[in-house]
Amino acid sequence: MKLILLGAPGAGKGTQAEILSRELNIPTISTGNILRAAMKNGTPVGLKAKAFVEAGQLVPDDVIIGIVEERLAQDDCLNGYILDGVPRTIPQAEALEEKGIAIDYALSIEISDDEIVKRMSGRRTCKECSQTFHIISNPPKKEGVCDFCGGELIVRKDDAPETVKARLSVYHAETEPLKAFYEARGKLKTVSNMPTIEETTDEIRKCLGI
Ligand code: AMP
Repeated sequence: MKLILLGAPGAGKGTQAEILSRELNIPTISTGNILRAAMKNGTPVGLKAKAFVEAGQLVPDDVIIGIVEERLAQDDCLNGYILDGVPRTIPQAEALEEKGIAIDYALSIEISDDEIVKRMSGRRTCKECSQTFHIISNPPKKEGVCDFCGGELIVRKDDAPETVKARLSVYHAETEPLKAFYEARGKLKTVSNMPTIEETTDEIRKCLGI
């Protein structure tokens, strides 16, 4: 299965990608997580990306394509992959096509802007391993501590309400047109965000026939 997850920031792409990744035994490639790790480690990519990420703007396409190409060349991607948060613009989607990076489906998780703003204010992210939690819908076992690695849970800088609004407008302007792009190729599938993570996963399974 070669899958792209589309949807607004906070739609639940990361959470669903992780569940599908375990079930299908294929890796998730999250450009957001790769960029955050690069920023934390102060690599050249991280230094280039920092100002864009912190302002809720998109990192230039060439940086993103380089990251994805390098990651997909690794052996664990041979049987499939889930792209979480990439492509995010039509030029990124075209670049992936030109490089022969195939996909079976682009799955869009649909959710309203109001719901996103409510949701993002409760999101907590592990400083160490990037695992995400939500204080109400998916709380960690111990407040402020990652269930998986024991790392500290923080509010991502770009999850602050003003930045969330900037990210939503970038999503509508730059990323949403990808739905028509993949629809024209017969690859688009859409599911509605459901009240719980499990129900949304069920919708996705039904929609993809897995
Ligand atoms: P995410 O964790 O997917 O919400 O990504 C966090 C931030 O990383 C975004 O707001 C962008 O600044 C940057 N980013 C992640 N993926 C991409 C991409 N495919 N293209 C451009 N910027 C990206």
